[in-house]
Amino acid sequence: MHLSIVVPCMNEEGAIAPLVDRLCAVIAPWAHKAEIILVDDGSTDGTWEAIEDVRLFHKIVVGVRLSTNRGHQIALTAGLHAAQGARILMLDADLQDPPELLADMMHMMDQGYDVVYGRRIERQGETLFKRATAAIFYRLLNALSDVDIPHNTGDFRLVNRTTLDAVLAMPERARFIRGMFAWVGFRQIGIEYTRAPRTNGETKYPLRKMLRFAMDAMTSFSTKPLRLATRLSFASLGVAGLMAAYVVRSLILFQTVPGWASVVLAVSFFSGVQLLTLGILGEYIGRLYMEAKNRPLYFVQDELRETPPAKLRESA
Ligand code: UDP
Ligand code: MG
Repeated sequence: MHLSIVVPCMNEEGAIAPLVDRLCAVIAPWAHKAEIILVDDGSTDGTWEAIEDVRLFHKIVVGVRLSTNRGHQIALTAGLHAAQGARILMLDADLQDPPELLADMMHMMDQGYDVVYGRRIERQGETLFKRATAAIFYRLLNALSDVDIPHNTGDFRLVNRTTLDAVLAMPERARFIRGMFAWVGFRQIGIEYTRAPRTNGETKYPLRKMLRFAMDAMTSFSTKPLRLATRLSFASLGVAGLMAAYVVRSLILFQTVPGWASVVLAVSFFSGVQLLTLGILGEYIGRLYMEAKNRPLYFVQDELRETPPAKLRESA
């Protein structure tokens, strides 16, 4: 197999047919050695039926159905595991990332790059809020982590087998895939594009999921927040020192009764610092706990493909 295209889909029933049509046009040069892997991430609409329908006409489509919703990054991981290609393209089901870039990406990979990632120079149809939070997030992430994760990239990228195997060898469950690809190294290059608005349906990333995604990214790639506790303790010791000086001054001037304001201030400041650092500890400990359980990332309920995967063929 030369090329695998991996697409995680959650409640994308309306997007499947247009997606496959557009992909088929793009992969024509490699169609005889290509597969399109659609991962149904526990959809509650007709996504799986849409995948079954599209397979009637397009045998290169492989359907993988997860037992329940596991989230975008894990659905993508399931698709990457199923991929057999020497080169693998990842993209979203909503066609926000133009598959037409594939030819250019393949060309760049021919020149010796292991990863060609998409860089959004413009995001159409995304709210100011989303763009602003994304900008802050990437700045913060890069300030905190030692890995240089390119700004304005998503999961839209073409990778070769070497890099994919490297990323799949990373067993963690808090998976921030774009960061993992940045972390493994190899020869990487960006390709710029304009991100189109969603063609169909609505975003599957409400604020709640976005925040969790951001926390996973931060905690997976940095332990600096843990050290924040030490720094804050220095800061609060400094404030406590100033307070002590103030107390001594009040004693000398016989002004010992007033001062509830400074007490309230001190109490609220220090309890704030304590709660914050406890919260940070909690984020890491919670993740340690989840990782330590080492449960499988997902379960496959159904898999539809023309020929069984190579591994199964050998053992059959
Ligand atoms: N997705 C998924 N599982 C989820 C959430 C999203 O498989 O729990 C898929 C979704 O179907 C889409 C991709 O992940 O193909 C990106 O989601 P979306 O386009 O909603 O994110 P946005 O572009 O708004 O950030
Ligand atoms: Mg999208």
